[in-house]
Amino acid sequence: MESTLKRTWVEIDLDALTHNYHALCCRMGPNSRFVGVVKADAYGHGAVEVSRVLEELGAGGLAVSNIDEARELRGAGIRLPILQLGLTPADQTTLAIENQIAQTVWSESAAEAFSREAVRLGGVLTVHIKLDTGMSRLGFQCDRPHFEASLEAICRVCGLPGLEAEGIFTHFAVSDETGESSRDYTLRQYDRFRSMVRALEMRGATFRLLHCANSGATVAYPRFAHDLFRPGIITYGIGHQAGELGLLPVMTLKTVVGAIKELLPDTAVSYGRTFRARRPSRVGVLPIGYADGLHRTLSNRWQVWTAQGPAPVVGNICMDMCMVDLTDLPQVGEGDEVEVYGPNSSVNDAAAAAGTISYELTCAVSKRVPRVYLRGGKEVSRELLLRGI
Ligand SMILES: *Cc1c(COP(=O)(O)O)cnc(C)c1O
Repeated sequence: MESTLKRTWVEIDLDALTHNYHALCCRMGPNSRFVGVVKADAYGHGAVEVSRVLEELGAGGLAVSNIDEARELRGAGIRLPILQLGLTPADQTTLAIENQIAQTVWSESAAEAFSREAVRLGGVLTVHIKLDTGMSRLGFQCDRPHFEASLEAICRVCGLPGLEAEGIFTHFAVSDETGESSRDYTLRQYDRFRSMVRALEMRGATFRLLHCANSGATVAYPRFAHDLFRPGIITYGIGHQAGELGLLPVMTLKTVVGAIKELLPDTAVSYGRTFRARRPSRVGVLPIGYADGLHRTLSNRWQVWTAQGPAPVVGNICMDMCMVDLTDLPQVGEGDEVEVYGPNSSVNDAAAAAGTISYELTCAVSKRVPRVYLRGGKEVSRELLLRGI
């Protein structure tokens, strides 16, 4: 990894993660436990290391999107309860039981398939019932026309052999949006969640763990806390609401100025000649491109942060490199470190410039970019995901 470290890397600030964890727990109160959402390699931050820290801090559990992500954590010795949020084929039931992974159940037919497998194996699969209250993704539909049928189905699921229904949850579509119609929508979703849980209780179906709050709800509706809460993006100190709670960005994407050249006026830069120097220019070549996770849509639309201030990205971002204008930053030299995004140049702003959301940018940091984990500003471990290195 030494070879790639002085090219492009991400720094993962474990102190910032710790700070955010405490701030979020404080917001949700002592009766609600933090479930770290570490799917997609902890939104690009490194699921194993992030999970270790959350385990040390006393989190209540972790959530992932598939069984392999869960197994990665178990393989690394993580012992916290893990909830698998996504679609899992029933033939993976053995893996789920062996690895003590709780599985989301989104329909009666899925539950029956899990039940059959669990019975065949002679084991018990822990499940959480997913309610669709308005996302129209996974879950038993809770709108009026479907309510009764879903209620009956969930009651039957709770009676299936080989399954232990430990939890019930839902997920919000617009809890991070402030407009009146979004607020109404979120409140309606929450109301449907409560109504279904209440109706189930009346039928004798109770659950030890209720949960619904994602990042948006953690910020805007802390009263939705319940037994668990599942903040994702905000744990990493990003998303447009992170500032409201004083959370700190965990990831900083860094690179170096690899080479500098002087350009005469009217010289074109990069593929497609989308930028031409208007004046005698000093241009830096950075060893980072879209294959590292710097979206090409940021071409001519982003500024990296140098010790002297912002340097605009000029010309199209290439696979492995991009160019920045250093004409107004004469002190910046070859070998200098540059922040692509992080505390000085927010990934939220980069996402807005790219026409996407911050989630997509941090998830895009690719496997050839080493992660360096810091505590007290000092490296404590590092990781490169390339095969065989
Ligand atoms: C991804 C996810 C979360 C976390 O979402 P954020 O917006 O990152 O807070 C919570 N719950 C479920 C079911 C998810 O899929």
